[in-house]
Amino acid sequence: MTAVHAFGRSPARHCKSCGAAVEWRVPDDGDTRQRAVCSTCDTIHYDNPLNVVGTIPVWDNKVLLCLRNIEPRFGKWTLPAGFMELGETLAEGAARETQEEAGAHIEMGSLFSVLSVMRVGQVHFFYHARLLKLDFDPGHETQKVQLFAEHEIPWDELAFRTVRETLIRHFADQASGQHGFHTIDIN
Ligand SMILES: [Zn+2]
Repeated sequence: MTAVHAFGRSPARHCKSCGAAVEWRVPDDGDTRQRAVCSTCDTIHYDNPLNVVGTIPVWDNKVLLCLRNIEPRFGKWTLPAGFMELGETLAEGAARETQEEAGAHIEMGSLFSVLSVMRVGQVHFFYHARLLKLDFDPGHETQKVQLFAEHEIPWDELAFRTVRETLIRHFADQASGQHGFHTIDIN
């Protein structure tokens, strides 16, 4: 049976344990979904959503955005964020991505938004962060960083809907004086 090419991922064709070709089928253990099953060593490969972690770095009423220097969305603006790595916590990953993409010195705050992005099989987490100084050293993934007040945000030039949805709620909370926690589902 041919695996469905979904969520922007290529279906596994070979077993990660022994290298034999896998078979796509519903395992015999009561599972209800198709998995890549190795008939040589019986390993079942589970493909689950990936975590993307980032921050909303703030200075006064302005937010730091990064101009992307890589695909996808080269030349579009994003909050600093990237894939969580093994061996780190959510907050550690968010701080690391902020360091790597913006070279920003921050104090981490609380978790602000959690976004389920079902189409690509990802969950995005954004933390509040306070910039400690206006001294940036962006990495190779970023052309430049810039601070934006709400009316300066390049809404039509944002790289990702998760960034847009997070910024909308950030500025709404800022305007209302509330500090909410936001869960958002994106199809
Ligand atoms: Zn195998």
